[in-house]
Amino acid sequence: MDLDRVKEIGVCCCCGQPTKQDRHFNMIQLDMDAAWEFPRLGNVFDSSVNNAVAMICDPCGDRFEANDPPTILYAIEFLGEQLVYHDYIPRAHGADQG
Ligand SMILES: [Zn+2]
Repeated sequence: MDLDRVKEIGVCCCCGQPTKQDRHFNMIQLDMDAAWEFPRLGNVFDSSVNNAVAMICDPCGDRFEANDPPTILYAIEFLGEQLVYHDYIPRAHGADQG
C-alpha cells in the first residue's frame, strides 16, 4: 500500500484522529517486536531490527517534539489494502519504562 493511501485512510495510533488532513506522514519506532511483515523499522531503515511502528497525527507529533508525548495505544500493520491496529505492548525493561 502506498503511504499516501495509508495517510488517507489511517488514524493516529495515539489519539485515534484521522490522519488524512495532516501535512506530514509521521511514523515513530516502537519498543515492540513486529509480529507482522510490514511495516517494521527494519523495512525502512535497517534490516537488522524488526521494531513495530506507529503512525501519528501532526498534533501528536507536535507533542512529541514538545517533550509532552501522548500515550501510544497501537502499532500499525499494512495488510494488503487494509490497516490493522495492534495493541502496543512495550517490551519489558528496567527503569526506563514509562
Ligand atoms: Zn494523534
